[in-house]
Formats: sequence, C-alpha cells, structure tokens
Amino acid sequence: YNVFKLLLIGDAGVGKSCILLRFADDTFRESYMSTIGMDFRIRTLHMENDEVVKLQIWDTAGQERFRTITSPYYRGANGIIVVYAVNDQTSFEHVSKWLGDMEKFAPEEAVRLLIGNKCDLEIERQVTTEEGEELAASLGVPFIETSAKDSTNIEEAFVCIAKAIQEK
Ligand code: GDP
Ligand code: MG
Repeated sequence: YNVFKLLLIGDAGVGKSCILLRFADDTFRESYMSTIGMDFRIRTLHMENDEVVKLQIWDTAGQERFRTITSPYYRGANGIIVVYAVNDQTSFEHVSKWLGDMEKFAPEEAVRLLIGNKCDLEIERQVTTEEGEELAASLGVPFIETSAKDSTNIEEAFVCIAKAIQEK
C-alpha cells in the first residue's frame, strides 16, 4: 500500500490538533494540549477503488504561533491541509500567507485542501460558507467545512485529499 504524508497548517487555535485527534482516535477535547510530544499520527483508509492507503498526518506543536514552520516539516509532503476557523476572521485572512509558505517549502506536486473548521459554532460565525468557497475557487483548491467537535466532514476531508493524491 501507499503511505501519504499530509501536513496540517494554519493559525494557532483553529483546531488542527482536534481535527487530527478526531480522525485518528475519534475523540475530542475541549482543551487540547499539543505539547504531548506527538509529531504525527497514522491512519489507514480503505479507498473506493479498494486500494489501502496509510495517511501519516503531521501536526504542529506550537510553532504556528510564530509562523516558524520551516522546510524540514514540508519535505516529502504529498498533501497540505490549510485550516482556518469559521469563527475567526483573522485565521481566514491568514490562509494566503500559509499557502505562500507552503509554495516556498513544499514539493511542487503536493496537493492542497482548504478547511473551514468549527462549523458547529454557527452563532459565532465570522466567515460565511460562500466566502470560503470563493477563496478556494480563486486559489484553485478544494474546500470543505468541518467540525472536529461533532465530527462533521472530518472523514470526508481526509478522503478528499487522499483521492486527490491518488489521482495525481
Ligand atoms: P490548534 O492550535 O489549531 O491545534 O487548535 P486545537 O486543536 O488545539 O483547538 C483549539 C481550541 O478549539 C480547543 O479549545 C478546541 O477544543 C477547540 N476546537 C477545535 N475544533 C473545534 C470544533 O470543530 N468546534 C468547536 N466548537 N471547537 C473546536
Ligand atoms: Mg495544535
């Protein structure tokens, strides 16, 4: 089977670690500490075409606060997931910065996915679904809204990027 290296990037607090925890362990924590020293998690996915792929998903442990995620982290990445939170306008405005970093450091053939997380927080929403879709369309990347809290589209997001890598 194939092993795909995926990276989660985006502002601190948008829910990257919770997305990974939900996908890898099917759990959620209200206060997730990223300092437990775990750099990546692996999960196997059975694809529609009967292929089995192993996703090795890398999380950042605080470096994103200072945007000091550097080239070694990006090395060999097959897919990059840029995350913002729908209740955090600033994190949305920073998406293009994160993609800029990625273009500097990631392999050229790496596929991209934009995630608007925390879609369960409808009353706190600052970024509409349409705004997310428009940004994604202008960048030419697929887009999906997720909630690590209630599991909305978490599985779908990883299947989406795994398929895009397979089709590469
Ligand atoms: P990271 O810094 O991007 O890794 O963000 P974390 O995964 O540590 O999450 C930051 C905070 O947002 C934590 O308090 C989480 O409980 C919360 N959080 C993460 N995902 C969601 C979500 O989908 N919905 C809600 N309501 N809260 C979330
Ligand atoms: Mg984290």
